[in-house]
Amino acid sequence: MSKIYDIIVIGAGPAGLAAGIYGGRSKRSTLILEKAREGGQIIYTSEIANYPGSLDKESGISLIERMKSQVLKFGAELIYDTATEVDLSGEIKKVKGIAETYQGRTVIIASGAYPISIGAPGEMSFTGRGVSYCATCDGAFFSGLEVFVVGGGDSAITEAIELTNHARKVTVIHRRDQLRAVESLQEKAFANPKIDFMWDSVVKELRGGEVLDTVVVENVKTGKETVIKADPNDGFLGVFVFIGFKPTTELFAGKIDMENGYILTDEEMRTNVPGVFAAGDLRKKTFRQVITAVADGALAAVQAAKYIDSMGGE
Ligand code: NAP
Repeated sequence: MSKIYDIIVIGAGPAGLAAGIYGGRSKRSTLILEKAREGGQIIYTSEIANYPGSLDKESGISLIERMKSQVLKFGAELIYDTATEVDLSGEIKKVKGIAETYQGRTVIIASGAYPISIGAPGEMSFTGRGVSYCATCDGAFFSGLEVFVVGGGDSAITEAIELTNHARKVTVIHRRDQLRAVESLQEKAFANPKIDFMWDSVVKELRGGEVLDTVVVENVKTGKETVIKADPNDGFLGVFVFIGFKPTTELFAGKIDMENGYILTDEEMRTNVPGVFAAGDLRKKTFRQVITAVADGALAAVQAAKYIDSMGGE
């Protein structure tokens, strides 16, 4: 653990990668730590239509690949390791990983958020056997079959539309009688003959044998339960869950100021701990998109460099 990095970025989603580009380009030694695969939530998005410069029908995975090349071009290091403990109190911050402990003059927390589960009986046991949180990854398994999408936000509606490329029918199960998704997505979904809606409804239970074949849905207004069984010719069905995300901030609890698990920063991405910045969806803010995440990452890296200068670093 001899090397002391100027900037350690925790997480390689859009915010972390943008921080890596700005950190590397400003000639600060920059390390990005990623526990599994770079990209964060966006790799689950089949089409990024609203990020400036994204290619026509570009997937989240493709956009992330292009960001990653840019990061490496500017000299930031990308190491796959899971941060398990942090000591952010001193002038030199320590991030303990499974493989090694890393030291940095500054830390940018960009560990993102993860999908929330519905909490219905059967959800966990059928994950990967009918229950999915990623249409891009699993949509093709349901070619010609019937699938259900839980949620009414941008993710749910984007992915419901994407799933119509595979499934013969997509039913959106939403707990209210109005979607949260932006108008343009709503229009697309309502105009799609393959998409149906079950309003005021929640999933109560998921059942099956080897694979998921039954969804129990309750109408929250009437209390009426509907038991949906897979067509016997199909043998199984799919349930795709898109009901939002939770910030990945457990590691920083009690060490950094937060509200409901979201990290508080000022407009320059500074947390209450000197030399520690936060960027992306784990930050308390009103608009969580790729474009706001990358803006956060860029700002955090610029501020980290200024902080190093103010401390007399090189
Ligand atoms: P979201 O906007 O928070 O929507 C979550 C949806 O799930 C809402 O419709 C919510 O219902 C429903 N829900 C929440 N908890 C539930 C529960 N326990 N049971 C049943 N339903 C539940 O989350 P998101 O759609 O994942 O989007 C997250 C952020 O990413 C948003 O800012 C979104 O704009 C952004 N995003 C953007 C794009 C894009 O730009 N292409 C794509 C995906 C996501 P209620 O409406 O009743 O609260």
